[in-house]
Amino acid sequence: MTLREVLAFPTELAAAYGRNDATRTAILDLQAVRLRRLVEAARTTRAYRDLGGWRDAPPLPKERLMAAFDDHVAPGVPGLQTAREFLAHGRPGDVVEGRFTVATTSGTTGEVGVFVVDDGAFARLRATVFARIFRGQLRPEGFALLAKRRYRLAFVVATGGHTMTSAMALRMPRLGRAFADVRTISIDDSLPRIIDALNDAPPQLLHSYSTVLEVLAHEALRGRLRVAPEIVTAGSEALTPGARAVIVRAFPGAALRETWGATEHVALASSCPLGHLHVNEDAAVVEAVDAADRPVPPGTWADHVLVTNLLNHAQPLLRYRLHDRVCIDPTPCPCGSPFVRALLEGRSDDVLFLHDGERFQAHPPIPWETALLGTPGLRQFMLLHEAQNQLRWTIVVDEGAEVAVVVAAVSTRVRRYLREHGLLPGVVWSVAVADALPRHGQSRKLRQIASGVPPPLSSVPAATLRRVGS
Ligand SMILES: [Zn+2]
Repeated sequence: MTLREVLAFPTELAAAYGRNDATRTAILDLQAVRLRRLVEAARTTRAYRDLGGWRDAPPLPKERLMAAFDDHVAPGVPGLQTAREFLAHGRPGDVVEGRFTVATTSGTTGEVGVFVVDDGAFARLRATVFARIFRGQLRPEGFALLAKRRYRLAFVVATGGHTMTSAMALRMPRLGRAFADVRTISIDDSLPRIIDALNDAPPQLLHSYSTVLEVLAHEALRGRLRVAPEIVTAGSEALTPGARAVIVRAFPGAALRETWGATEHVALASSCPLGHLHVNEDAAVVEAVDAADRPVPPGTWADHVLVTNLLNHAQPLLRYRLHDRVCIDPTPCPCGSPFVRALLEGRSDDVLFLHDGERFQAHPPIPWETALLGTPGLRQFMLLHEAQNQLRWTIVVDEGAEVAVVVAAVSTRVRRYLREHGLLPGVVWSVAVADALPRHGQSRKLRQIASGVPPPLSSVPAATLRRVGS
């Protein structure tokens, strides 16, 4: 916890909170100012020495950043060797050289990325997240009231690795002492221990991964978890319709907020009271582009996004290629937010490519989810495309539910989905029952829908092939 962090956090929190209700023009003006400052900072690096405007920056894939890491950091910022040493021997949440946070991406695909952010920017990014989460929650006397109540926050997250989420959660207690009680609970603890920790000090704000919140919600409905948070925030994984429904039922007094963030930028978007994600355009520029990095029209799905981090001057990321699929919705949201809306697809999930005998169909994750939505007794599921046209479902059954009945119900729905898409009998599948779903590697993210099969060269969207009424 550095002095810069202590000073930057409340200042940015108040300013960013004010922008929740600003005009769109004011947001875009600030974005332009921050872009200019970012370009000035970027010009101090070897990679961007001759940069004109930010739009002149070529799209930056992770591989190129990592191949010339030291060229992409500002003078005085730790280089790759120092960063790697810290990642090998340092404690998550600690700072390097007195002020830098170093974190890695989970590396679920390809090479692991290394990212550096200084203390002031780290505080401002976090403040942006909180300003959006607390939107409409702070009364006029707001921040003083917050201090008086000693707001209690609980983060149930992975604390073992050097991800930005664990760095944020582990640094919170040190920030928090002054005006809040912040607890970090490791998801590596057993479920009873997590529940005990939450029951002992019921939080006003509960943050975790969507699938973990889903499990906690079931425990709350069963009466074992006795907390009544005012705000529940879900991050790092897509909030599925099934998870959303059970969380709302379990915590009826809570505002449910979803956040979209990545190690490269932890504050990309936050959801509004109506459940729509709004891009934090005061902290990021998000360009929706096709596979060749060309902009796609608003209202259409992007292949991926180019993210410009407006707040990190230590390792300027301009037009960084992030493999999340979004659809920017330019129509104003009824919630009144000045920030543009985005639909987010997939995230840690994969698109599955199945062959129907004539061609490959592309199946995005959400329809698989909705196909099983509301199956009685089904708590969670995972779908693996283990070999071409070979699908394996792993399911967790609710306590007290008849396993055979749940398996039969899941099987019926799976068969219906496959038949509707003309994938029977070409696709073979199985359903297995497990006590819990396995988590993925260091990030501990759950990949609910995953493919172990490389995508084909060409495919058609499954939606266009749906055989209505069959
Ligand atoms: Zn909205």
